[in-house]
Amino acid sequence: MYLDANATSPLAEEVWEAMLPWWRDGFHNPSSSHSGGKKAREAVELARAQVADLIGAQEDEIVFTSGGTEAINALLRSWDRVATNGHFLTSAVEHSAVLRCGSALSRPMTTCAVCENGTLDLAAWKELLNGAAFSAVMAVNNETGVIMDWRQASALAHERGIPFFCDAVQAVGKIPVSVADGAVDAMALSCHKFHGPKGVGALYLRRGSQFTPLLQGGGQERGLRSGTEAVPLIVGMGAAAALAKKRLTDGTMGRIAEMRDVFEREVLAGVTGVSVNGDLSSRVANTSHLSFDGCEAAGLLILLDEKGVACSAGSACMSGKQQASHVQKAMGFTDARAKSSLRISFSAHNTLQEAVQAAALIGQAVNKLRSVQGSGVGPVVIYTS
Ligand code: PLP
Repeated sequence: MYLDANATSPLAEEVWEAMLPWWRDGFHNPSSSHSGGKKAREAVELARAQVADLIGAQEDEIVFTSGGTEAINALLRSWDRVATNGHFLTSAVEHSAVLRCGSALSRPMTTCAVCENGTLDLAAWKELLNGAAFSAVMAVNNETGVIMDWRQASALAHERGIPFFCDAVQAVGKIPVSVADGAVDAMALSCHKFHGPKGVGALYLRRGSQFTPLLQGGGQERGLRSGTEAVPLIVGMGAAAALAKKRLTDGTMGRIAEMRDVFEREVLAGVTGVSVNGDLSSRVANTSHLSFDGCEAAGLLILLDEKGVACSAGSACMSGKQQASHVQKAMGFTDARAKSSLRISFSAHNTLQEAVQAAALIGQAVNKLRSVQGSGVGPVVIYTS
């Protein structure tokens, strides 16, 4: 039972089928002038149109990359090179791709606080924009599933003439995301989060946005990202984008929301001492972030894995020890609450029956772990059960 779609999502059958011809017979270089090369070029350009269509962009605003991390690094490092004075402003709950890259820039990085429910503190954001050279807020948080107010954050930045970048890796394919109104200057996308292959993503660059490429070489992607295009992966991204667009309106999202809601209802009915974390009125339909009083997530994950349930701890695992993640710290979680949290993330590949079953298995694992922990026996017991 795979309930870890925010880590990566299963490859959709349609995407697999679309990619297949391009691994072997369609091996040509899209820059070649022979007919094989031309066909590969057409496939790449069709994929670009499909990705652009998913987010309401123009085709020439899409640059294919190796994934979200590359898109983020390329953009932030580019803006760092071209901007004059000022700090880089972002939120405290960004993905490490933004925070680590941001802290390696030539200028200081300032992180804006979030509220206890994980949403951006917009009053603080407004203040911190003073003296910022450029700014970034994610669209959806990968741990909690909270939908951030990136449109408002961007509007405030733009009022002051400050460029704004959005990491939409966890949003695209889960909620409608549109750049058609010029709301952002740049955006990062990653294909493996919406049922496509790993190793491919895109950077949306609004026409007229400043950008100097990270990778120099053969001048592919209109000189913005050199390197021979990964044709099968790019084709996969196009097919995944087309599928994601269809699923946003064909009832799939409602089905996923029902799974998540039934799952949470069953968990809450089955065990006591559970908190549902994050802003419940503004989160993506697939994600459930739960804390279980007196129950370490590390132990829960082992018990659940034994039962065939794959999910993630809501906190970070460093050198085998659960630690509060920067997201949980920013939300003001105590260490105990942070260490006792799980992230369950559904996708279109799950069923309602799995959601009910998972809730029951989680309830059993929580009760088992609480009884072991309460007995004074060390958590080592869980490995032998
Ligand atoms: N940003 C967010 C919010 C993510 O969740 C992830 C991946 O987990 C990334 C960026 C990095 O994307 P990729 O895995 O494509 O490098």
